[in-house]
Amino acid sequence: MQNDLKVFDQHESEVRSYVRGFPTVFHKAKGHKIWDLDGKEYIDFFAGAGALNYGHNDEKMKQKLIDYITEDGITHSLDKATKAKGEFLEKFHEVILKPRNLDYKVMFPGPTGTNTVESALKLARKVTGRTNVVSFTNGFHGMTIGALAVTGNAFKRKGAGMPLTNTVTMPFDNFLDNTSSDLEYIERFLDNNGSGVDTPAAFILETVQGEGGLNAARMEWLKGIEKICRDRGILLIVDDVQAGVGRTGTFFSFEPAGIKPDIVCLSKSIGGYGSPLALTLIAPKYDTFAPGEHNGTFRGNNHAFVTATEALNYWTDDALEKSVQEKSKKITSFLEDLLKKFPELKGSLRGRGFMQGISSEIEGLADEIAGKCFENGLIMETAGPDDEVFKLFPPITIDDEGLEKGLSIIEKSVTQVLE
Ligand code: PMP
Repeated sequence: MQNDLKVFDQHESEVRSYVRGFPTVFHKAKGHKIWDLDGKEYIDFFAGAGALNYGHNDEKMKQKLIDYITEDGITHSLDKATKAKGEFLEKFHEVILKPRNLDYKVMFPGPTGTNTVESALKLARKVTGRTNVVSFTNGFHGMTIGALAVTGNAFKRKGAGMPLTNTVTMPFDNFLDNTSSDLEYIERFLDNNGSGVDTPAAFILETVQGEGGLNAARMEWLKGIEKICRDRGILLIVDDVQAGVGRTGTFFSFEPAGIKPDIVCLSKSIGGYGSPLALTLIAPKYDTFAPGEHNGTFRGNNHAFVTATEALNYWTDDALEKSVQEKSKKITSFLEDLLKKFPELKGSLRGRGFMQGISSEIEGLADEIAGKCFENGLIMETAGPDDEVFKLFPPITIDDEGLEKGLSIIEKSVTQVLE
């Protein structure tokens, strides 16, 4: 096959909704590197928007998968119990939940992030008997009608072609630029003092908004939100689809806040190898879906269970967490230096951990920088309602050399764009 995008366009077989930000055909990938059909190498600072936290084609996961396939391991099982599923559940409990003193029942709601969000919303409504769900400005939770209804992005909501109801959007932390009033505002709203809003079933939030512009909630705000929920019998759903699985420096992004959500949504990197897998973690008292009440043909992919179980070996000690936390500091100081060196960026630092970036007030600049990075051999996406943030999203397993090379390409690209 030639490296020619016309193959996709001329056949008109791929719908327009695919963004064509990277004008090449990709072919192979390993760790933090990805190659196109011409053999050009790129550093991957996109990592499948968080689906490839462990990089591409991790050797151990690959071998486990090859062995499983060679031994004719079950590929599809619907809701049947399988060895691969059992081993994953056991290890997830031992390595992730138990050491963190977290008690959750695990549900496999379907293959994607959107599926876990849908199941969480449905469950919260079922157990409370209420319909409203509070979501937050610039939050992103998925593309189906229920998940879109809690997504704070006007462009994406328009795609529904119908009113999205039973949700109320509240200001995310710092949205009002007056941090102390954000929580009071929410309390006043819920007090029904003229707002007319019935007590909601749940709040749903990302601790760092991945698509919405890398807005990181303060730990105090998260604690405040948890308290509001507890005081009023509202369920707290944390959507850790993008910020989870180590992206912020701890397995769950909410760990530093010390909160315990009632429901946690996980997907993207939980499968480890880029294969679809989603988990809904449910506080045991809310384990109320009757058998068959929430099902789906592809809930629980056995190949993904095999790689997911292997991936959990990254979490049997704190080496990866420490490494992500250390490297995150490097990313922060790199971005701070960049802001100092280039006041023309008119930018500000966003995010935390391995989900940081720069938001620029100059229209189109973040896109231009991402485009220049692509030319220079680095893949990076933009985020935010106006794509105003360029987003550094390397695999969390990247080595120092790869990270430094990636950062130097970004610096070079920013210099060239602003020249
Ligand atoms: N929640 C969050 C926080 C996400 O970032 C995404 C995907 N970007 C989703 C939900 C939806 O996941 P998926 O695309 O796998 O359906």
